[in-house]
Amino acid sequence: MTNYRDLKEYSVTEINGVLDRLRQTYDLVQLVDIEECRVLEVQPDGSIRYGQECFRIWNRSMRCANCSGYTACMTHVAMDKVEHVHGDRQEAHSIPIYLKMLNGELELCVLDCIKLCGHEDGEEDDLRNDNMDYISTHDVLTRLYTQEKLFREIRCKLLAEPEAAFLMVMGNIRNFRLVNKLYGIEGGNRILVGVADLLREECTHEEVYGRYRDDRFVLLVKKSKFDEATFLGHLQRASRLVESPIYSISIQLGVYEIADANMPIATMLDHADLALNAIRHERQTLISWYEPGMTARKLKDQRIIEDFEAAMCNRDFHIYLQPQVRSDGAIRGAEALVRWVRDGQIVPPMEFLGVLHQSELLSHLDAYVWEMAAELLHRWKGTPLQDLYVSINVDPSDFYYFDVPEHLKGLCEKYGLDTHKLRVEITETALVDDAERQSRIVETLHDAGFIVEIDDFGKGSSSLSMLKDIHADVLKIDMGFIRGKSNLYRSRIILASVIDMAEQLEMGVITEGVETREQVDRLSDMGCENFQGFFFSRPIPVEDFETVALQNLGKRG
Ligand code: C2E
Ligand code: CA
Ligand code: CA
Repeated sequence: MTNYRDLKEYSVTEINGVLDRLRQTYDLVQLVDIEECRVLEVQPDGSIRYGQECFRIWNRSMRCANCSGYTACMTHVAMDKVEHVHGDRQEAHSIPIYLKMLNGELELCVLDCIKLCGHEDGEEDDLRNDNMDYISTHDVLTRLYTQEKLFREIRCKLLAEPEAAFLMVMGNIRNFRLVNKLYGIEGGNRILVGVADLLREECTHEEVYGRYRDDRFVLLVKKSKFDEATFLGHLQRASRLVESPIYSISIQLGVYEIADANMPIATMLDHADLALNAIRHERQTLISWYEPGMTARKLKDQRIIEDFEAAMCNRDFHIYLQPQVRSDGAIRGAEALVRWVRDGQIVPPMEFLGVLHQSELLSHLDAYVWEMAAELLHRWKGTPLQDLYVSINVDPSDFYYFDVPEHLKGLCEKYGLDTHKLRVEITETALVDDAERQSRIVETLHDAGFIVEIDDFGKGSSSLSMLKDIHADVLKIDMGFIRGKSNLYRSRIILASVIDMAEQLEMGVITEGVETREQVDRLSDMGCENFQGFFFSRPIPVEDFETVALQNLGKRG
């Protein structure tokens, strides 16, 4: 992508000359502010006079539908657009610029240049509404329907064709927050406009579509017209809206087949949203259909969110420790795994981490778990357990909420710990998403003395390329990928090569998920020295771990 901040800057003293030069090429040239689409006139003394809204000045009815000037400003990229206004063809060229005021402030505005290309028979302006109606019913950025208008149009469509089977489709850009971080708000806007353009191109008057909120788009389409293969093709086109080696845009669709057209539209959208949620963590699946069980799941998730705060206050979250051992069984440390003691039951993390992640609560829990781990290491100081380490899990989202290295350093200072006692597990997928940034974070952690482990290595799809960029200390290989019975021979070859490669990269290896003696022996033969798995121990409460570890150390003298 281009650098969006790289806009031309003109001072108030030079801008009128620029306008005059452009007028030699174009029929109409104006400088327009984006806040209110008003024409700016620079007075001889350098002050600014705000004129009328630009659509009045153009004297060609209004050209707000996907206005190129507005889009250019929001995306910081010049836009060319052909418009048909009352059958007249206009070529608009909109150039975003910074206008430097006398006080030195920069104002983002657009040089809007229009060529009038005469009347074209048969070309009809399809903008039926008057200006003000249009503006109040269309989203300023994408020029799609606003939510209210969208709801009204959907209802009209459903009433007009009561016999037809309709689908409510919701589209969501995966990791849109990351897009905004990587490319800035303007880059994000450019993508939203791109998606809106795609909808405009592909839809006919048979469909109703609009922007629901943020990066969510909605489409009402007849079931007979929804062909998955065609829609996957559209999604692939959308993925090309960003050309970047580090990020590829992915849009997912949640689809709800409307069972009862009288149902509130908000409920239909909720159902499509639930379908979408079911695949939000899956990169490969792009279309998901609503199933009735999803509503029950949502209620369960809502209870988790409602109970979370009280559970934190009551200290209902605990850590269980799963030993990390050498092949002879000597304990070297443990991974801290969170458990929720809820209504007297031990709830495993997979039941609540996903929903806490979605509700942006996971980082609170993680910080709490890290602190418990640090407290524990502090408690072990001066005891026979003082040489053991504890590994903590860092979720990818934690990096957005904290400066993780600073936070962990702070914990080590608070509890007087050597940083290498608190190991840091980061999942492979987290590292791939924004490799450059993550590589810097890993380096910072590493420089501060933390041992960084790449968790779940082999589960993701870009393990090798990630290894090239990220200099972590330990590879935690997930047994999952060799657990199945098929392709055992090939799996073993891959495993042996990964262990060998880690050695050459001077990285330690821990194989996790080992369940049998045979696996341990085989992996030991391949050169793996460290293990974690049910064969040695399940995750156990801290007190149990302490007892086991003391015995284990005692045995070894
Ligand atoms: P993980 O980091 O890969 O942790 C290892 C998981 O594998 C644990 O599941 C552990 O019980 C399980 N496991 C260990 N050995 C074996 C084995 O031999 N066979 C099988 N089948 N499974 C084994 P657990 O405790 O349910 O945790 C699941 C995941 O939840 C963890 O996977 C980790 O990604 C996440 N998690 C756990 N605690 C935290 C936490 O405090 N913060 C964050 N962000 N994530 C956590
Ligand atoms: Ca882990
Ligand atoms: Ca793991």
